[in-house]
Amino acid sequence: MAKIPLGGLLKGMKVTLKALFTKPVTVNYPLEKETLVPRARGVIALDVENCTVCMLCARECPDWCIYIEGHKEEAPPSKPGGRVRSRAKLDRFDIDYALCMYCGICVEVCPFDALYWSPEHEYSEYRISDMLHDKERLTEWLETVPEPPALEP
Ligand code: SF4
Ligand code: SF4
Repeated sequence: MAKIPLGGLLKGMKVTLKALFTKPVTVNYPLEKETLVPRARGVIALDVENCTVCMLCARECPDWCIYIEGHKEEAPPSKPGGRVRSRAKLDRFDIDYALCMYCGICVEVCPFDALYWSPEHEYSEYRISDMLHDKERLTEWLETVPEPPALEP
């Protein structure tokens, strides 16, 4: 007759019993929602006014999922008799969240504070093509960006 490994069985039962009376670490999403940390990486918001179309974010993105197009526009001289200035105008700024791996490199490298993390993460779609967020949609996320923490004195 085969010998029953009682020691192992009791050990397993102990783990099961302990788990039965311990508070679960998971939540029953979407019925329950976790309180996220303010700087959670949910979605990237774009501040169009700050973007100079420098393309740095698109170049540094390891997934090549940022698509930018722009053109130059003439701007009036800063003082009378001065030279006519040229200003870059943003035509297209898309992020494909079907490809994005949320590394945050684009937000880090932007020299003009045009990209911010928002903790908003409920934007799943039925069609993968709808995961591409255009300039307007990325701008709408700005409202969900939390205030930066106060500076230390
Ligand atoms: S978070 Fe990373 S992968 Fe996503 S768009 Fe920015 S650089 Fe690209
Ligand atoms: S790095 Fe910043 S300023 Fe440059 S294109 Fe990207 S978002 Fe715009």
